[in-house]
Amino acid sequence: MHKKKRRLRKGLLPVLLILLLLIGGAGIYFFLNFNIHFIGVKSIHENAEKFNNKNCLVFYPAGNSYAEDVAKTICMNNTQDNAIYDYVLKPYGDYYMVDYGLGEKYFLDKDNKLLSIDSADINDNVKKMISDYLRYEAKKSGNDEAFTVAFMEKTYVNNLDITNARYSIDGEYLKVELTDFDYDIHLPLKYVQSEIGINLGYENELYKKPRYIDPDRPMLALTFDDGPYIPVTTKIAATLAYYDGVATFFCLGERLRPDEEIPFIKTLVEQGNEYGSHTQSHLNLTNLSSEAALEEIMIPANDLKNGFGYEMRLYRPPYGAHDSNVDNISPYPAILWNVDSEDWKSRNPDAIKEQVYSQVDENDIVLFHDIYDSTAQAVKDIIPYYVDKGYQLVTVSEMMEVLGIDYNKPYFSGR
Ligand SMILES: [Zn+2]
Repeated sequence: MHKKKRRLRKGLLPVLLILLLLIGGAGIYFFLNFNIHFIGVKSIHENAEKFNNKNCLVFYPAGNSYAEDVAKTICMNNTQDNAIYDYVLKPYGDYYMVDYGLGEKYFLDKDNKLLSIDSADINDNVKKMISDYLRYEAKKSGNDEAFTVAFMEKTYVNNLDITNARYSIDGEYLKVELTDFDYDIHLPLKYVQSEIGINLGYENELYKKPRYIDPDRPMLALTFDDGPYIPVTTKIAATLAYYDGVATFFCLGERLRPDEEIPFIKTLVEQGNEYGSHTQSHLNLTNLSSEAALEEIMIPANDLKNGFGYEMRLYRPPYGAHDSNVDNISPYPAILWNVDSEDWKSRNPDAIKEQVYSQVDENDIVLFHDIYDSTAQAVKDIIPYYVDKGYQLVTVSEMMEVLGIDYNKPYFSGR
């Protein structure tokens, strides 16, 4: 009698264990798939390497040898039934990824808790990225203008509503399923990891707005020298952002204060704008020794690199003055221009507009200065004028890449 009762109890234990395990983490997976997987509580981290790529895996409460036996039996039986248990479990930053090779991947933290991301983790910076990527995807997919405008209206004019979004990890991306839009976007984890407070092992990178350039449409590179002068540069940057355009700013080193202009420049770079060196103190480089000329070019470049890790790729010599000696010592191509707005001379919005409209053609580089309010006023009309004509406002580097211009070229002035 006693014996029989004990045996009965013993027989119930594995069943209970199976049920418990199924209700747990593996339960989610169980409903998605015919194959049964068991994820228990034993240190996945400790055993990650050991268990990697095994064809069957059962985890069980640590130190419970009875449970271990049961688990092994279950595993063996299922394997004999040709059940597929292939999976990959590998370290990802502070997490382990459980990959069953069926698209869905799970990330477990050190306590074997499933990584979950919801709208509470999405701060304003990530919201901005989501809206940037929405616009980018809309453009890239070649959807009609109405589609793009709808996204712009929803994402910029109103605030992006992300309360109904679903978040998951998909490769190197945070997948955002915007159920209200019936649209998915993918944000690179290298940009969002630190914002949502997780570490999946990707090196954090400075966010840069995604840009799509249609190779079949004309480009225009607006360039602004002698700044930043925050009151004016802010206005120009706002107009650019409003029309989804970008520009290249050649800054003067002597204007760069670590707590003012440098963080300001960082925000412009995040909008997709480019910064190049306009030297430290606006001297004519052809009058300087090689060492002095190189130093003049490099000080602003180093300021931005030290400030927020920015790597410049271009410079503009003051007065456009360069010679073969300057070309040889500079690590960057000298970027000149083929349209001069003469804003420094007229300081009059109408005169500036007339000067630009009468000269600009496809793939030109236009010279402005972001230190005059009259320039900011003129640009407020010039930018929509060219956007309406189908021009894409690009950085000089973007133009060079689309046109296949080599960065080793000593200088470039458009087209
Ligand atoms: Zn200048």
